[in-house]
Amino acid sequence: MKRKKWILMLALCTSLVLGTVTTSVAATGPAPAQPMAQECGNCGQMRLLNQYDYGEWVYLTTTICEKKVGRVDYIYKRPVFMSVKCGNCGFTADLGTTWEYKTVCNH
Ligand SMILES: [Zn+2]
Ligand SMILES: [Zn+2]
Repeated sequence: MKRKKWILMLALCTSLVLGTVTTSVAATGPAPAQPMAQECGNCGQMRLLNQYDYGEWVYLTTTICEKKVGRVDYIYKRPVFMSVKCGNCGFTADLGTTWEYKTVCNH
């Protein structure tokens, strides 16, 4: 009688531990691709190189000029498409898009 109860508790504990492990794995599972990873997901060689493709500059807004009082500068942005390419097998992976900003001061 006593022994059966103990086993039941043990089973309960095990399922609790397993439940915790499963949850933590699920939380870290769909992590985004790391830009620092340099091992090719296709051939396994450490030949991945970062690539950046730039889109067109798009006018965004104006800002007060820091050099000339009372003048206005123009801020532009453009998309930067980040990806990695394997130098061994040519495998490419998309890492997403970021934005680059520039201030044009032409006076
Ligand atoms: Zn490769
Ligand atoms: Zn300016």
